[in-house]
Order: sequence, then C-alpha cells, then structure tokens
Amino acid sequence: MREPAGKPCIRCLIRDLPDGEQLAEIIRERNELLPEGKRAGEALYRARLDICRACPSLNRGTCALCGCYVEIRAAEKARACPDVPGRW
Ligand code: SF4
Repeated sequence: MREPAGKPCIRCLIRDLPDGEQLAEIIRERNELLPEGKRAGEALYRARLDICRACPSLNRGTCALCGCYVEIRAAEKARACPDVPGRW
C-alpha cells in the first residue's frame, strides 16, 4: 500500500512507508529477539497487521489509541488491540 512520493500515507504500516524501511528493519530485528514463547506466530502476526491496515486508528505505522508501533505491539503474543472492543 505505497503512496506516490510526497503524499503521506495514513493507512500504512512502517514497512509500507516510502521512508520507513530502515525503521521497519530495526523493528524486525527487535521482534526476532522476543523469546519464542512470547512472540506471536507468523500467521497471527500477519492477521493482526491486516486488521491494523484496515483500521481508522492506524496513523503512519502507529496506533492512535495507544501510541504503539503496531508492528511491535502485534508481535507480542500476549498483547491485544487497545480498541474497545478489541479488533484483535
Ligand atoms: S486500534 Fe487496534 S487494529 Fe486499530 S491500529 Fe490500533 S492496534 Fe491496530
């Protein structure tokens, strides 16, 4: 979901932002350091991020409700979406 250069994409994950690749790589490395038991499985992680991508609270990779980078929040198995009711 990339936007043309110069036009901010509100409904993008960090990895989808034109200038977000470096931060996305840092987030990926950070997520890989999570102990196996605490990390969401790949299918769960992808499903959560798909929900965030369609959410009106996603703002350039962060959640407007909690301020988290959603690519970090979604990686931790025990975390939940802060919306009420939670979206994931
Ligand atoms: S409210 Fe939930 S689904 Fe929406 S961006 Fe935040 S974490 Fe993602």
